Amino acid sequence: MFRPTSLCLVLWLVACGGRSLAHDRARTPLRLPDLPNFLTLKCDFHIHTVFSDGKVWPDIRAEEAWREGLDAIAITDHIEHQPHKDDLPTAHNRSYQIARSHGEALRLMVIPGSEITRAMPPGHLNAIFLQDATRLDVPDWRDALAEARRQGAFIFWNHPGWRGQQPDGRARWYPEHDEILAKDQLHGIEVVNEREYYPEAHAWCLEKNLAMLSNSDIHNPMGLDYDLHAGDRRPVTLVFARERTLEAVREALFARRTAVFAGGRLIGGEEHMQPLFQRSIRVLTPEVRVRGTGTAYVQIQNESDVTYVFQPQADDADLSFPAEVRLPAGRVALLAVRGRNKETRGAREVALTGRVTNILVRPDTPLTATLTFRVERVPQ
Ligand SMILES: [Zn+2]
Ligand SMILES: [Zn+2]
Repeated sequence: MFRPTSLCLVLWLVACGGRSLAHDRARTPLRLPDLPNFLTLKCDFHIHTVFSDGKVWPDIRAEEAWREGLDAIAITDHIEHQPHKDDLPTAHNRSYQIARSHGEALRLMVIPGSEITRAMPPGHLNAIFLQDATRLDVPDWRDALAEARRQGAFIFWNHPGWRGQQPDGRARWYPEHDEILAKDQLHGIEVVNEREYYPEAHAWCLEKNLAMLSNSDIHNPMGLDYDLHAGDRRPVTLVFARERTLEAVREALFARRTAVFAGGRLIGGEEHMQPLFQRSIRVLTPEVRVRGTGTAYVQIQNESDVTYVFQPQADDADLSFPAEVRLPAGRVALLAVRGRNKETRGAREVALTGRVTNILVRPDTPLTATLTFRVERVPQ
């Protein structure tokens, strides 16, 4: 018994070339630039643990988020749905307390919350920045929302088009939502939940001045639902905050300074998306020379973790550009500039305007952005 086991171990170590197989306990930064007056914080405000119907102990939630480069999470176990209660007593504040303790050790902000889990309407709502979640455990959802608001909570509507409540996947606005909006009990909506985007919710955020949110609603260990090592990532809510504190996150949420980063796509207001894009990219070759009908290359560095897709909308009598250029995350892309005429001479500034197709500033409306560089023309 002993001999074959040792032999296997030796062969295994040889096969591994002596390298350690230990998994690094390390954070991978999520690179998105700050805005001129605000930090860009990466947050997930919808997370479950074993204290409701999740499969994970709360401290692991803090470490998962820290490793994925997040700044803040909210633990939002269901109040009404407690399927593990025969194994684990109902304790509505406990998951937050455990996650916060490890979050503090890792310098990850952890926010107390709960998911108020009701039939549609009004559906499921998260209340975060709660003082005491146990007081939301009441029969009437109106009383639960009123109590959450009394505690100063920021309240948002979860997965409004979730097929569990809307079989056709379409989000619908009910009179009950008008009611809670009028009572200052609705401050945001999930435009993205998990991998689902709700265009109706996106439009309501603009119409009704609600904060856009994008959360994982994770129940499993993160690595079960997201292929993290292959670059897959959970959806995050971007919060444009004055500083990296809980109070600043809260202030930014109530001020509606948020955006969505999910599935490689950014969704937000023009005022936030324009500087986010512009600060992600840098033209490394501010001047190129195009000889006659030849080609020159503008090198564009993308320092962010978003791969942008830029479609020039150029109408230039002397220069032509490709229909689309991808600006890969963390890399330098080539933008080909071709001359149309053999004899043009002289230098000028080119302002190349186009659509960034994976940044939405309204449903179906991509961001329009301009890249500027100089082109010197010399005859063939
Ligand atoms: Zn839910
Ligand atoms: Zn949930």
